[in-house]
Amino acid sequence: MKDSKSLHNKVAKIIQEIPRSGIRDFFDIVSTREDVISLGIGEPDFITPWRIRDAAYRSLDYGKTSYTSNMGSISLRNEVSKYVNSRTNVLYNPEDEILITVGVSEGLDLAIRSFIEPGDEVLYHEPSYVSYNPIIKFAHGVPVAIDTKKENNFKITREQLDKLKTKKTKLLLLNYPNNPTGSTLSKSEVEIIADFAISNNIIVITDEIYSDLTYDQNHFSIISVPEMRERTIYLHGLSKAWAMTGWRVGFAAGPKIFIESMMKIHQYTMLCAPVMCQEAAKEALKNGDVDLKRMKAEYNQRRNFIKSSLKEMNISFIEPTGAFYIFIDISKFGLSSKEFSIKLLEQKNVAVVPGTAFGDAGEGFIRCSYATSLEEIKKAMVKLKEFVKSFK
Ligand code: PMP
Repeated sequence: MKDSKSLHNKVAKIIQEIPRSGIRDFFDIVSTREDVISLGIGEPDFITPWRIRDAAYRSLDYGKTSYTSNMGSISLRNEVSKYVNSRTNVLYNPEDEILITVGVSEGLDLAIRSFIEPGDEVLYHEPSYVSYNPIIKFAHGVPVAIDTKKENNFKITREQLDKLKTKKTKLLLLNYPNNPTGSTLSKSEVEIIADFAISNNIIVITDEIYSDLTYDQNHFSIISVPEMRERTIYLHGLSKAWAMTGWRVGFAAGPKIFIESMMKIHQYTMLCAPVMCQEAAKEALKNGDVDLKRMKAEYNQRRNFIKSSLKEMNISFIEPTGAFYIFIDISKFGLSSKEFSIKLLEQKNVAVVPGTAFGDAGEGFIRCSYATSLEEIKKAMVKLKEFVKSFK
């Protein structure tokens, strides 16, 4: 076992076969350069609001340094229950229907592992958040990508669902508001997907991490559709809307049996989310609405600025109705999304993410994040304008 090949062969095949994240590859190139203007980052540029940080300081001062219940502290679960109810009108019992996780990332992993037997198929839509495909494979499931299309604003259609469903389809994984496309679903679009899940007896995992960041209409959750609560795992977390990525707190809500199954994995692998972070999350859910609204207003201002800049440049994009991403159509420039992104970086020092980092269905697009200051966005738009001029 001296050479690296024999060491490599020791690693489980399933891990060997999974490629590195396309985002990571691209940002390895970005990191070799100086003074890059980055629209590539998928996390808020805000520092976690003071009242939330203060709650964590205070909890440490009071000496709260132990494990909490495996389910998460009951006081946080109470706040989660109130929060989810306020947004969706659906009530979950904080005692046994809510689990505090280490970010939505852990929630996704637990949910998928709870349901998947080897060979079970999981429908998910691409372009998608980069973790979905690998975590399904880690669980020995089969990822089945629904290639969403620009004509449909990257929304799933019923026809696609019906076509891709097989006897082995166990789960449907949803993510609206969507990373990377910024697309959201209306109530009637959600109802169509719910009808598919109900009539085919499919369990839904819904990643609603961006649900508080919608700009043109309120988010409508699939759990609010009658008969969906009993077949859905609802995942959400503090990372995005409260600018708390580093705190690693998320939550899952669902029927008792499902949450108990997820808890079994969680208790043997994670024990609980960090206690001071749970205290901070409690404060965020209880009193953080003003901060959330302030940050959202800034995202909206930036979003509107990018939209009008792109219109001026005659570049089309998917209407960014949620999250903090805008998916820009660069197909008319005759380069692949990766080539476009590399050239833009090399010639103008502006970093964006190629759409194909989120699956093949992202070809022809780049993802720009507006979780960065308006000042930086303004500079980036000037550079983009200069860059696209060179194609004429
Ligand atoms: N889901 C989506 C759609 C995301 O974009 C992200 C983070 N980029 C996550 C989940 C992971 O979030 P967390 O920090 O809660 O693990």
